[in-house]
Amino acid sequence: MMTSSISLNPANDRLGTESAFTVLARATELAQTGHDIINLGIGQPDFPTPSHITEAAIKAITDGHHGYTPSMGLPILREAVSADIQMRYGASIPISQIQIMPGGKPTMFFACLIYGGAGHEILYPDPGFPIYASAVNYSGATPVPYGLVEEKGYAFDADEVLSKITPKTRLIIINSPANPTGGITPKSELDKLVAGLAQFPHVTVLSDEIYDRLTFDGEAVSLVSYPEIADRTIILNGWSKTYAMTGWRAGYAIWPTSVVDYADRLAVNIHSCVNAPTQFAALAATTGPQDCVDDMRHAFTRRAKLIHDRLNQLDGISCPAPKGAFYAFANITGTGMASRDFQNIALESYGIALISGTSFGDLGEGYVRFSCANSDDAISTAMDRLADMLKNR
Ligand code: PLP
Repeated sequence: MMTSSISLNPANDRLGTESAFTVLARATELAQTGHDIINLGIGQPDFPTPSHITEAAIKAITDGHHGYTPSMGLPILREAVSADIQMRYGASIPISQIQIMPGGKPTMFFACLIYGGAGHEILYPDPGFPIYASAVNYSGATPVPYGLVEEKGYAFDADEVLSKITPKTRLIIINSPANPTGGITPKSELDKLVAGLAQFPHVTVLSDEIYDRLTFDGEAVSLVSYPEIADRTIILNGWSKTYAMTGWRAGYAIWPTSVVDYADRLAVNIHSCVNAPTQFAALAATTGPQDCVDDMRHAFTRRAKLIHDRLNQLDGISCPAPKGAFYAFANITGTGMASRDFQNIALESYGIALISGTSFGDLGEGYVRFSCANSDDAISTAMDRLADMLKNR
């Protein structure tokens, strides 16, 4: 047998993936071959991008904004982000620390490249967004999971997180409102984390706040509200979820002054800049009317309640009330099925796309994630089908 002389970067084999995209591809394939599929899998709003936002992008194109923008993003958009943060959280962030990114994901990847590397440890939530562990592994750092458990409403436990810090820890990734659990970290736990970090000046926190506007009761707390760790706080946020703009690829990062130049250099090396029409669309989103955000949040709140109520009526399934993002994370241990089998049978035999909890970490075994990004009718039909699936198993 011939052996290949092509030798690749071993880091390739450390990259993970996001099962939601695999399930979406299979669900689309089934739908295209005539199957009636209800998609409660992928985490993207089912609403169109509001028209005042799309019109701003069209105007940018007709006005001739076809070229590169500064690698950090259009100053006018960075000013708008800074003003928005000032208005919502009362924090003053200079635009020199704000970088416009092609979506939320690149911020986590950049952060892992900047803080990771061999010999370093990065803490991340399990269950959590799968790209965290993937990016940590790719960087060469050691991923150290901390648990988010159902008994605590999936809120993270600051004491547990602090107890996992070692001299090798460089970064802690936190996410609230959270994917996949729909949990929200209470202010008291964030207070405790920040107070505890005083003992660990070598540790930076990456706060993934991509769902910050999607809360079902009460507000999420931003880490920008803690000036005492401003020099070691990274904020990940963006327009994808709040304004139904997942395909536009618009996000932003706030970097500590000490690393912002590295983030800019990564942007110059990798993507140069976010395309200009998308940046004008993001500007219209941030500075324009916000009732579209409220309308979408109300719809997600109603659907999350519907999913929660219906799931808890099913034999073998229990689901804590989702508090934010747009996910319900249901405990299926009572069905006796493994999470991956549950996902596959639901899709292949009952036409319901949902995501196995194991896609989000080892602690996701015994759980499945439902996205609320579908109509009330579709959700009700999916729950009827799920009842049949459980009856017939
Ligand atoms: N962070 C979390 C927790 C997410 O769930 C997602 C997307 O699902 C992202 C970040 C990435 O967002 P974007 O699509 O803007 O890259």
